[in-house]
Amino acid sequence: MLTPELDEFIAAMPKVELHLHLEGTVTPRTLLELARRNGVPIPARDVAEVAALFRYRDFGEFLSVFMELARAIVSGEDFERLAYELALDLAGQQVRYAEVMISPMQHITRGVDLREAIEGCMAGFRRAERETGVIVRLALDYGRGYGTEAAWQVLEVARTTRPLGVVGWSIGGNEIGHPPEPFAPHFAAAREAGLGLMAHAGEVVGPASVWGAVEALGATRLGHGIRAVDDPPLLDALRERGVVLDVCPTSNLLTGAVGSWEEHPLPRLRAAGVPVTLNSDDPTFFHTTLTEEYRRAARYFGFGADDLCAVVRTAAGASFLPSEERAALCQRLDTELRALRASLGV
Ligand SMILES: [Zn+2]
Repeated sequence: MLTPELDEFIAAMPKVELHLHLEGTVTPRTLLELARRNGVPIPARDVAEVAALFRYRDFGEFLSVFMELARAIVSGEDFERLAYELALDLAGQQVRYAEVMISPMQHITRGVDLREAIEGCMAGFRRAERETGVIVRLALDYGRGYGTEAAWQVLEVARTTRPLGVVGWSIGGNEIGHPPEPFAPHFAAAREAGLGLMAHAGEVVGPASVWGAVEALGATRLGHGIRAVDDPPLLDALRERGVVLDVCPTSNLLTGAVGSWEEHPLPRLRAAGVPVTLNSDDPTFFHTTLTEEYRRAARYFGFGADDLCAVVRTAAGASFLPSEERAALCQRLDTELRALRASLGV
């Protein structure tokens, strides 16, 4: 239940977000300005009309709107602006650490220089870090629909931009017709390069996709992974291996992956001992924020302060930061959470 005390705690508590797509955070105002400046036609004349575009009926339509609007983002400077605006927003929500994905092929195929985009993102994140202290790192989320061949060049960029702050390698896009197994060699190479491994799996396809992401790819975090709930031996495997599910509840409802809050598998996943985190996925598209996801977890899943603190600790521990920085983050969050709970009496 979301009591006023818990609500206050949620707003003030230090948070960690691990599943967030940069392209899905652009505000209608910024999108409109970028489209105008870059001469990219979008079917909207003002902020209200752009906002109206963020509507779709199912996952396929969501992906096509997402791809269409991302065309307005062109230069390194554009990425810097998005990254900076996002990081400031996260800082305002008391997020201490976030891992943000960009979808490389979506930009490469329309002529964007991926390295320039990454440099822009990291410049925006570092600027926000200097101003607010929020730490944001990047992961490349390769669209599985682009096939295995092109993934090698993207992975090469990920490898060479690690010193800038690229910490993770992921596959995303439509799971249907694109199982994880063919990407096993890329994941092995990414691990070799020191990148953290994650995969979108078990969002719209059942347990087979999750098994593949864990067994063939060695992913230690899964985007969504909620369909694992249909397979008890898989739940055991996730728990035993400590594979973390980065769950995005509102996203699941709005893409139709889950029919209602009552049916959402998150409480059953937790009851099975599977580590979970809460995330906003594409906040602009899903009309949500990380803080709002925490509130909804309280309202619909009955999460209390202990549960929410556990989510934050799980997220910090599962981050792809180098181990010393990760340990420092966990320590800092523990201290802050303890002090906040004591001061609010929650
Ligand atoms: Zn995602």
